[in-house]
Amino acid sequence: MDFQQIIKKQADFFNSNQTREIRFRIEQLRKLRTILKSHEAELYEAIYKDFRKSEFETYATELSLIYNEIDEAIRKLPKWSARKRVKTNLVNLPARSYIIPEPLGVCLVIGAWNYPYQLTFIPVVAAIAAGNTVVLKPSEISPETSLVIARIINENFQPEILVVVEGGIPETTTLLEQKFDKIFFTGSSRVGKIVYQAAAKNLTPVTLELSGKNPAIVSANCNIRKAAKRLVWSKFLNSGQTCIAPDYVLVEEVAKKELLSQIKIHIENADYSLENSNYIQIINEQNFNRLVELIDLQEIYCGGETKAFDRYIAPTVLTNVGFEDPIMQDEIFGPLLPVISYTDLNEAIGLIKSRPKSLSCYVFTSDKQIRNKVLNEISFGGGAVNDAVMHISNGNLPFGGVGDSGIGSYHGKAGFAAFSHFKSILVKPFWGEPNLKYSPYSKLKLNWIKRLV
Ligand code: NAD
Repeated sequence: MDFQQIIKKQADFFNSNQTREIRFRIEQLRKLRTILKSHEAELYEAIYKDFRKSEFETYATELSLIYNEIDEAIRKLPKWSARKRVKTNLVNLPARSYIIPEPLGVCLVIGAWNYPYQLTFIPVVAAIAAGNTVVLKPSEISPETSLVIARIINENFQPEILVVVEGGIPETTTLLEQKFDKIFFTGSSRVGKIVYQAAAKNLTPVTLELSGKNPAIVSANCNIRKAAKRLVWSKFLNSGQTCIAPDYVLVEEVAKKELLSQIKIHIENADYSLENSNYIQIINEQNFNRLVELIDLQEIYCGGETKAFDRYIAPTVLTNVGFEDPIMQDEIFGPLLPVISYTDLNEAIGLIKSRPKSLSCYVFTSDKQIRNKVLNEISFGGGAVNDAVMHISNGNLPFGGVGDSGIGSYHGKAGFAAFSHFKSILVKPFWGEPNLKYSPYSKLKLNWIKRLV
């Protein structure tokens, strides 16, 4: 594909002003919904081939979120895109002041492989809702889903509105050399820096949805059984290949034994065996080998079984792990859960704060003081109290990171804002002209200005 030509076509279409019509945007969103609905069987088949993701998880953690975003955007678009009147300050009177949301233009969306549908289509929904055109680049690491996304979109959409470009590093590098009006990237913090540098050359605004090492703090005074159940679900969902999964657990020393035994029970109840067709594969050999290397046999509390042929790693809980161990250096991104104890919450918070800001953070506690302490003292993208991961499913909560875990946010109205410019306008009538600002200046005028401003 000739990227320059695609971008030129999209820019021409954007400049025809058709995407500024709300009716046009709603039509495109409805069309996207219909395309996804009518190709669901192919979407399920492709993701199963990539990493054995089940229909249940694909619907619950991907398609349902996309449909919700489409429906919400269709419903709220007239309100989101309407110009908003704001107060005018005294010095400008008589006048009116407005904020007009406007689209940015031609946008590039680069997706990651671990939730290949929602991480590509939710930004696309936001971009179209805001009146932009989109070039979408799914991850080559999940080739089957990339292929099906490209096929169903490119066969049904006009390329000047939405087009899918497939490829890996060389193609993405070439894409990043082009001038876009917005780049929306989901992936690792390492590649996020490459994208940010490329965008800076053209002063292109970015949203960067990146990675982090997400802590889950469990205090002794909570329902340990429920905490364990929720931790197990959120950690081993997608075999731990979830950007907001709890990366490691910090549990109050007195509750460690009970938490570990409850985690083990819930892992057994969930049946994450190799035979269970709902337990997902590690995406590729490289990641499988990386994860296997992180398992320290001395530290295994439960799990530890691996099968290279099936890229299977059983849910593995590790104890006696120290902050200096290899597993505690980078995001794990797999089904390995270190459980580390603490006696002093201040110290635990200090350890978390000594590391880059994470994408999420979780606290399990029935004590309001502990909850507020964690929420007030630790900076992170978003999170939950007494739960994990589920905050992503509330479209009213902007989703994004902070510091090393990202720049900007999306979902719902935040997504619309991520792909919009908010143009500020002051409208003056020709009548009413206080002479204050005009030369010649005087002491009297200055005194008036001091009073008015
Ligand atoms: P990645 O950073 O390797 O790749 C993401 C995208 O960037 C892919 O489309 C890939 O083709 C492209 N890319 C890779 N290397 C590149 C390079 N050198 N130059 C230009 N483009 C390049 O990430 P991944 O392995 O696909 O996804 C996993 C990572 O993404 C994890 O770190 C995870 O935490 C993060 N993630 C973040 C979120 C979020 O919402 N914040 C969501 C999912 C995944």
